[in-house]
Amino acid sequence: MKLIRTDDSLQAYVEAVSEEWFHHPFRHRATFNSRLRTTGGRYHLQTHHLDFNPKILDVFGEAVFLGIVKHELCHYHLHIAGRGYQHRDADFRKLLKEVGGLRHTPSIEQKSGVAKRWHYQCSQCGQSYYRKRRVNTASYCCGRCHGKLKLFEQVICEQ
Ligand SMILES: [Zn+2]
Ligand SMILES: [Zn+2]
Repeated sequence: MKLIRTDDSLQAYVEAVSEEWFHHPFRHRATFNSRLRTTGGRYHLQTHHLDFNPKILDVFGEAVFLGIVKHELCHYHLHIAGRGYQHRDADFRKLLKEVGGLRHTPSIEQKSGVAKRWHYQCSQCGQSYYRKRRVNTASYCCGRCHGKLKLFEQVICEQ
């Protein structure tokens, strides 16, 4: 089935994966959560709901996304069955291997060139500078007006 980026489509997709690979129904909710940054998916122990990072689908495509759905469904089904549902548990590792789930979410930051940067701003003209490393603002000045730079914030840059 074709997965598109709506919660209804995701819900149907997770239900189908659950039936096909785990032979048990998924009876809770699966939603996209665009606030997730590097996390691929999450299983919520209290509500049994799943949420997934839509960027995984955009950046890596459906094959990788499926691996993450399987991973979260391993947590889900083992937890509900009262078995070892945590990463270090033998039950979890065995089931994950059987269904071909992903152990780790690939790094979105590396793939899409998202990187941490230090954001400096000139205290005189307001010009912004982004640097990979922290710089010594005492010995580093604005290229436009030679004003003093001050550290503004650490940011994530989309490149
Ligand atoms: Zn996990
Ligand atoms: Zn300046």
